Formats: sequence, structure tokens, C-alpha cells
Amino acid sequence: MGTIVQIRVSINPEKYGENRARDAINKAFEEIDRIENIYSVYKYDSEISRINRLRKNERLQITDGVFNLIDKTLDYSEKTDGAFDITVKPLVDLWAAAGKANRPPDDYELKRALGRVGYKNIALDKSARTIYFKKEGMGIDLGGAAKGYATDRAIRILEENGIDNALVNSGGDMYCLGKRSARELWRVGVQHPRDRNRLFLEIRLKDKAIDTSGDYERYFVIDGKRHSHIIDPRTGYPIGDNVVSASVIAPDSAAADMLATAMCVLGEKGFDIIKGFGDADAVLVTSGAGRLKADMSEGIRERYDISQERL
Ligand code: AMP
Ligand code: MG
Repeated sequence: MGTIVQIRVSINPEKYGENRARDAINKAFEEIDRIENIYSVYKYDSEISRINRLRKNERLQITDGVFNLIDKTLDYSEKTDGAFDITVKPLVDLWAAAGKANRPPDDYELKRALGRVGYKNIALDKSARTIYFKKEGMGIDLGGAAKGYATDRAIRILEENGIDNALVNSGGDMYCLGKRSARELWRVGVQHPRDRNRLFLEIRLKDKAIDTSGDYERYFVIDGKRHSHIIDPRTGYPIGDNVVSASVIAPDSAAADMLATAMCVLGEKGFDIIKGFGDADAVLVTSGAGRLKADMSEGIRERYDISQERL
């Protein structure tokens, strides 16, 4: 997945031996490898690559894991007014090619790619476990959800192996299971968006996920101008430079992953959507007139123990 995954577990050595803990951790890493093989768009034979070779209306039977994750992403597309949309792939490919050629796409190319995007053009058949695309030239990119999903799966494997307290961190996609110790919750940090040696937020969490999306880790350059790897599926353009980063706290990591990407597309308007979930929170960093500003969802400080550094 192009990142480093860190797993920590906290055990009572009298009840649960160190070897058993290592075994559980190894199983969690095996699960992450398994998921990478399924979801990678770089592997020709991955399940996702096979989906992406489908012609219009051609059906493919898919495994339950993939079916359920795609189904979940469609639900989040609906709930984020289409800001999160895995069918964004034709646009992702177009802008990646534009970056390589150092030339922005022309109107025709943009229009054509945009015409192939739209989560409503994916059809899932629940009883047959099949997927098909309603338009020619479609494809899916789970880059905005798979890391979170892998984190959730790793946590599940740890739980199945008797671990009650763990922290999984997939390159910033984190889930805190239980506690660090009897007295302390897990404490996680969000890197400063402009200084990787500093933390911007520190937060204590229990049975929650946090994920951050932003413009500072992955981007591409055309004519000397930086473009985000996050694309607004509704306009076809990479998100502007107003949004610097979005961190989302949610009950599971897949949700936090998708909502952090969606918040980058939605900006401040995204707070209403976050509120609608009832169990999610967000911290949005924006830049205007050369200054950074942080906005937080209402009541977040009452729900969590947060310490915030200067931006
Ligand atoms: P993340 O780093 O979690 O924000 O995910 C960004 C990745 O998701 C990108 O590199 C693309 O592969 C994909 N992506 C870009 N824009 C969107 C979008 N609007 N909805 C869903 N996935 C996206
Ligand atoms: Mg994400």
C-alpha cells in the first residue's frame, strides 16, 4: 500500500504470553498482505484490476470482502453528496498522465473522463454477488478507503486472537482498540501539515479510528503548480489549495479514511455532513491569505482529550 504499518499491542504477560502476542501480530500483518493483493490497482491479477477490465454491463462475481467494501463506499458516496466516489479512477488516471506529460488535460479529455465517473453507474447484485458498470470505460480506485479497511481488518484479527488492547497505524490511518494501559488511553498524534517534525494535534482515543488526508504527502506538479491527488468527482479537477488537511475521527477506520478524503473535497461545508453522522468528528486545516487556520466540529473538545499546537 506504499506505506509503513505499525502494530502495537498491550498485554498482561501473566494472562497472555509474549509469544502468543507476536503470533497475533504476525497474523494481522498476513491479513494486510492479503488485502494489498486484492485491492492493488498495480497488480494485473488483483480482484480490483479484474473489475477494472470489465466492459459495460459485463458482470463479474466478486468475493464477499470486496463486495461489502464497495457497498460501503457507495453508502458513503450517497452520504457525502458524491464528494467521496471510487469511480473517480478515469479522472485520477487523466491527472496522473497530465502530471507526467507536464501538460493539463484539455476540455475534451476532461469531459470524456468526467462522463465515465459517478457512483450511481456501479451496480451490485446482492444475491448473485456480482458487480457491473453501466457505462463503458469506467473503473474504481479504492485508494481513499483501502488503507482504512486494512486497519480495521488487522484490528479484527487481533481481537479474534484474544488481544483487547492495540494500536494499528497504517501510515496515519489509525485505530485505537481498548487502552494503552489500565490507567492510560492510547495517545495518537497528527503531524503538522507544514512541518513533519512537529505534531499539530495530540488526542487520546478508545475504540475509535482517526485518519488524515491532505495536500502535503502526495501531489503532482504541472507547470510548477502543485495539484492534490484528491479530485472533486463532480468538477473533474483536483481540489484547490484552500484545504490543507482534514482529520476525521470515526467508529471504524474505513469510515475515517473515506470521510477524511471527502472533507478535503467539501471543505467547511463538510462539517454539516460530519454532524449528520452523529458519531464522527473532524478537524479541517485551511489556508487563506498565506495563513493556516484550523476549524473543528462542534463539541469535539468535550468528547475528546485534545491538545493542539500552533499552526
Ligand atoms: P486519501 O489519501 O485517503 O485521501 O485517498 C486519496 C486517494 O483516493 C487518491 O490517491 C485517489 O486514489 C483516490 N481519490 C482521489 N479523489 C477521490 C475522491 N474524491 N473520492 C474517492 N477517492 C478518491
Ligand atoms: Mg482517505
